[in-house]
Amino acid sequence: MKILVLGSGGREHTLVWKLRQSPRVFQVYCVPGNGGICAEAECLTGDLNNVDSLVAVASRIHPDLTVVGPEAPLALGVVDEFRRRGFRIFGPTAAGAQLESSKSFAKEFMQRHHIPTARYAICRSPQDLSDALPHFHPPIVVKADGLAAGKGVMICKTKEEAASAASDMLVGKILGGAGKKLVLEECLEGEELSFLVLSDGERVVPLVAAQDYKRVGDGDTGPNTGGMGAYSTDALVDAQMRDWLVTHIARPVIAGMKAEGAEYRGILYCGLMMTARGPMVLEFNCRFGDPETQPIVMRMDSDLLGVFIAAVEGRVSDGDFKWSGDPAVCVVIASGGYPGSYETGKKISGVREADSVEGVKVFHAGTALRDGEFYTAGGRVLGVTARGPDLETAVARAYEAAAKINFEGMHYRKDIAARALKTQPAT
Ligand code: AMP
Repeated sequence: MKILVLGSGGREHTLVWKLRQSPRVFQVYCVPGNGGICAEAECLTGDLNNVDSLVAVASRIHPDLTVVGPEAPLALGVVDEFRRRGFRIFGPTAAGAQLESSKSFAKEFMQRHHIPTARYAICRSPQDLSDALPHFHPPIVVKADGLAAGKGVMICKTKEEAASAASDMLVGKILGGAGKKLVLEECLEGEELSFLVLSDGERVVPLVAAQDYKRVGDGDTGPNTGGMGAYSTDALVDAQMRDWLVTHIARPVIAGMKAEGAEYRGILYCGLMMTARGPMVLEFNCRFGDPETQPIVMRMDSDLLGVFIAAVEGRVSDGDFKWSGDPAVCVVIASGGYPGSYETGKKISGVREADSVEGVKVFHAGTALRDGEFYTAGGRVLGVTARGPDLETAVARAYEAAAKINFEGMHYRKDIAARALKTQPAT
């Protein structure tokens, strides 16, 4: 089969790497890809923010299946358009993707379907804001309604801070259209968990759970990023909790979407806070997470192509996934300055040496390949991912490999999975 993967990050490199292992796949294309992907698949030019451009690529290469990595093309309706033209594609329609592309839609949907989430108010104007704010106790979470590439959530310590953050979005339009509407939310406390399920619109099968590290610095300090690392172990969620999450969160979402005429096929990512009152939904994503995909897929012993086809053909079943009990860890190596401004074009050394460490695969996020050498081309550059017989070994392998990589200004967190190990951060 010929497969087309849409996207350019570490998540897409991971999907390409895993799909290539399927005996039924003989060619993988990626639009637009990155340095690491180009070394393993045929990269083609195309605009992820323009459905016509993606249709043009598909009309040229006739893929047997297209897999969508990021949220933007899903929200723009790439699945609707590909299906209309008879191309098989994995992911939800634009109506399904609203669970991610509109936080107010997601909150109202959860309320309609009794899915546990933080108390909230939706504000469309400064008047709504001043009516709602008195009903919240700080800290207050202010969220832009639309897609804001990870920049749309502010946790405010006082009401004044919340009022100012909210009016920057509503009136100052600092996030453009994404902040035209916003959600105020009570702040939840607990451990975060990334719980992903696969659905064919009706049935729901959970993937292994993961935890990601959003802050840039060790000990969860500094600003939020797209994700500085993640790990996955069976210890994150036991069988009883997994069943609870499927019964009370994932299945009601899929059933609710179907009942509302927006059948949801694809990956549903539930970002959860495990609070003292029980698990609550922080957000939904309508696709695989980045960097959670890296350790999750590293633990997958089944054929990823078979899983995607089962979802597209409406016959997902519990037997689709086979998981290794081995934990996996991904450490993201970022450009100097990230998540603020950073330079690109720095020559990267040591990737092949890192890749040769036992149990390790280096997934590329922001790299370019020129004359056989890798150069930095983004904020998050590489995701050094390792699997091992236990978490200590997986972490040690990831950091041994990360230490072999070098480029000017690079930085990475030294404490990925440290909470789970209950040890001091690696040096
Ligand atoms: P979201 O995009 O909604 O997942 O928000 C990004 C991050 O903000 C989450 O991963 C949490 O760390 C944090 N966050 C979002 N909503 C809340 C909340 N209600 N309480 C506490 N933290 C939150």
